[in-house]
Amino acid sequence: MPFSSIDDLKQRLDAGETSAEELAGLYLDRIEKHNASLNAFVHVGFEQIMAQARASDSYRAKHEARPLEGVPIAIKDIFCSTESPTTCGSRILEGFTPAYDAHVITQLRKAGAVLLGKTNMDEFAMGSSNETSAYGPCRNPWDTDRIPGGSSGGSASAVAAGLAPAALGTDTGGSIRQPAAVTGIVGMKPTYGRVSRRGIIAFASSLDQAGPMTRTVKDTALIASIISGHDAGDATSVADAPSVDWLGACDKRNMKGLKIGRPEEYFIDGMDAEVRQKVEAALKQCEEMGAEIIDISLPHTEYAVAAYYVIAPSEASANLARYDGVRYGRRCEDPKDLADMYTRSRDEGFGDEVKRRILTGAFALSSGYYDAYYRKAQQVRTLIRQDFLNAFGQVDVIATPTSPVPAFKIGEKTDDPITMYLSDVFTIAVNLAGLPGLSQPCGFANALPVGLQWIAPAWREDIILSAASAYESATDWHAQHPKAYGGAGA
Ligand code: GLN
Repeated sequence: MPFSSIDDLKQRLDAGETSAEELAGLYLDRIEKHNASLNAFVHVGFEQIMAQARASDSYRAKHEARPLEGVPIAIKDIFCSTESPTTCGSRILEGFTPAYDAHVITQLRKAGAVLLGKTNMDEFAMGSSNETSAYGPCRNPWDTDRIPGGSSGGSASAVAAGLAPAALGTDTGGSIRQPAAVTGIVGMKPTYGRVSRRGIIAFASSLDQAGPMTRTVKDTALIASIISGHDAGDATSVADAPSVDWLGACDKRNMKGLKIGRPEEYFIDGMDAEVRQKVEAALKQCEEMGAEIIDISLPHTEYAVAAYYVIAPSEASANLARYDGVRYGRRCEDPKDLADMYTRSRDEGFGDEVKRRILTGAFALSSGYYDAYYRKAQQVRTLIRQDFLNAFGQVDVIATPTSPVPAFKIGEKTDDPITMYLSDVFTIAVNLAGLPGLSQPCGFANALPVGLQWIAPAWREDIILSAASAYESATDWHAQHPKAYGGAGA
């Protein structure tokens, strides 16, 4: 049962074979047993989780079960929720318990889900390895000497190790898809504007988007159906977004005649040879299932990382100005005066990577440099978006590797921020263009999971879900779980 899909758990709950209370107990036991080796969860309120589960069972007893009734879902520490501290992996938010729920949390509660604690993450979602967390690194259940990806590393590790059936993550430059890829699970970043950002601690507001991290494509669709939709509380939540038949798309499993674009810029010499081989093999399999693989080019891809590392830090420097030792969380001890309080609270509260981003961003936005950096990066962003629009004139969907390498060793890249930034070469352009992207497991490289990324035109998550479901139904990569945590192994 720890590795059951939500779909499966729902059937068992409906049939009366298990209860919300039993499920919550099962996952809490596993968290108690395994969290020391993984550091996937940072806040777990055992009592209140059991109380949520009992309340959910009473809905079912009254025959009022809602779509996720009794299903436990782990939550990245970036989503504000009133029942638990929300610290965004940072010391500066130590002791902060929000006064309101994020919109997506409200949606999950209304659907009957049980919120299963807060998961570890890179500080303020800045990172690709979960190593910038103030709570220490989270570990990959396939090899605990390795990173689980980031920034939603705790969510990925928890789902991959069977400590939760599903989790919520956020993705600004790859933070759902890259951890999903390196831990062997499914993760989707919806189209920008599909999911409300209200109550999600902001990193880079024009890029941030929340999404599901699950073990199957259908589970991702199910959670997406609950958390998406217009919210007047977020000005970038799109009111008239084209709707998607989330579950219907999964049932379609459409591969026949599907035109899949294979961008040459995403199959490059610098990447891991085995990762490349697995993704090529996945494309071959799609072809055998009736898809047409078409070579395409996204010529501005090589500028994506550089543009992102101007835009994201610029927005972050503005968003993080609010942490001043007054309004939220932590204040330094015995400040001499106001300036001392601001500077020491921020200096003591933020970690090195966050400081690096704030400094870079403030520099890029400063007068005299704005045109050279920020405006230029925004222009590049337009070109990247245009590349995708051109490609989608030719193909229905694009398939690429999610991460150029499998999970690397903890500590391997911490001294070299640029190498770390390159972990997201294949995911960042999708955020810059505001498109939906999904990663699903497609094999192993040296016994470590490899992810296949699907990218579709804006609002066409249905094309991705249909193709990914077809691929999933023809393979069993998603059904392999790490042996050390009771799974069947690779
Ligand atoms: N790794 C990228 C960064 O550090 C993306 C992070 C994210 O998507 N939140 O900014």
